[in-house]
Amino acid sequence: MINWNDTIAAIATPPGIGGIAVIRLSGNSALTIADKIFVGKRPTQCPTHTIHYGKIINPKNQMIIDTVLLSVFRKPKSYTGEDMVEISCHGGTFVADTILKILLEQGARLAQPGEFTKRAVLSGKMDIVQAEAILDLVNAKTETARRSALSQLVGTLSKVIEEIGNELKDILCLTENALEFEENERINPIKKIHRALKKVENKIGRFISKGESERFLREGALVVIVGKPNVGKSSIFNCLLERERALVTEIPGTTRDSLEERTIIGDTLIRLVDTAGIRQTKGKVEALGVVKTYDYLKAADSVLAIFDNSKPPTYEDKMVLEAIKEKRCLFVLNKIDLKSKFSFTNLPGINGQKVIRTSARYNQGINELKKALAKLFQAKNDSEYFITNRRHIEALRQAQNALVRAQKENYLETIALEIRIALDALGEITGKVTNEEILNQIFAQFCIGK
Ligand code: GDP
Repeated sequence: MINWNDTIAAIATPPGIGGIAVIRLSGNSALTIADKIFVGKRPTQCPTHTIHYGKIINPKNQMIIDTVLLSVFRKPKSYTGEDMVEISCHGGTFVADTILKILLEQGARLAQPGEFTKRAVLSGKMDIVQAEAILDLVNAKTETARRSALSQLVGTLSKVIEEIGNELKDILCLTENALEFEENERINPIKKIHRALKKVENKIGRFISKGESERFLREGALVVIVGKPNVGKSSIFNCLLERERALVTEIPGTTRDSLEERTIIGDTLIRLVDTAGIRQTKGKVEALGVVKTYDYLKAADSVLAIFDNSKPPTYEDKMVLEAIKEKRCLFVLNKIDLKSKFSFTNLPGINGQKVIRTSARYNQGINELKKALAKLFQAKNDSEYFITNRRHIEALRQAQNALVRAQKENYLETIALEIRIALDALGEITGKVTNEEILNQIFAQFCIGK
């Protein structure tokens, strides 16, 4: 059981050798504990937001551990909203570890992952969306992911969700007022309420589709390479990654399992998958590989369908087109360095779409392919906020479902109940309705010291 009155401590910088390391201390006794180990101006006497030069000693034997800079942040104007001390000591793990050990001996407790940020949420310094944004900001691998996290951090998304919540609260008021009417006078207000609910439901629906299309900003876009054996899937996979990751041979069926690697193309984190491909199978292992290809295809945000320029199309190319017909695709004709024997004319499913011509062997057309991929996932730059978190999309969906149900209802009491369910779902996004399980799930993803 976590005690929130404890004073917590942790090393906030990553392990390893570095210029400096920072140890954080937060809680009611942060300043008094710091007093015991700091030789310099007494932290309990220091004003907030000041930095002091001094020495850290082990109070047990007066041994000097390091010369440091100690920063004081007094509540409520600190990251956690509590009294906080940050000690910047010399880098390297040994010094920081020793200081942390002394802090623990002097009454601090080792912080849990994300506990500093969790305290910030619990003391009302930020809402959950903002806490999640901090996690995303720390993990951001592209500029757009950073921007998306930052917009959440400054509270733009929270504001948008709050606005929808306010609209719903108005409708709830309307519904509750209508309860005062006689039964036979209720028909008109119910129609009006249904119309108002439809408007909010549509708005939430637009957020959900925006979220679906922006989810890849946070998680990476899943791009799956398919094609019949030997068309050059592994070669293209390697070219896009700019390294020899997958085995390339002239023996068909070499890739029997799927390989997944991360890379950044344009400004998008791409999870690129080289699959066993699509073909008629003989062996059990091969068959399993093909089943896995279909699983990946189902989850794919986009598909690269590869065809071999040097051979006439076969039944297996048709199987490929059939398998990807519902997907967002880029069509690639590979091996253009060889004499052309391929034609798309009799293949259904291409419908005059652009085909990118490549030679993986000579690295031709790969830049064009990268550009086409980058374009697929370009986020709209004018967006003020992004919805990239699965948890947020799921909560929006729950709110939407409640509003759909409410519109089918003619009992004002049930309508009011459904509106409340929708409001609770929205509240879960920002943490207005706090569920301990959700909180724990979120903060478990943080590192210690954040
Ligand atoms: P996969 O089975 O679809 O993954 O195909 P691979 O990438 O393993 O390639 C199969 C064979 O085609 C290998 O011998 C590659 O060297 C060759 N290959 C791949 N791309 C090209 C290309 O653009 N031009 C030529 N001439 N050969 C290629």
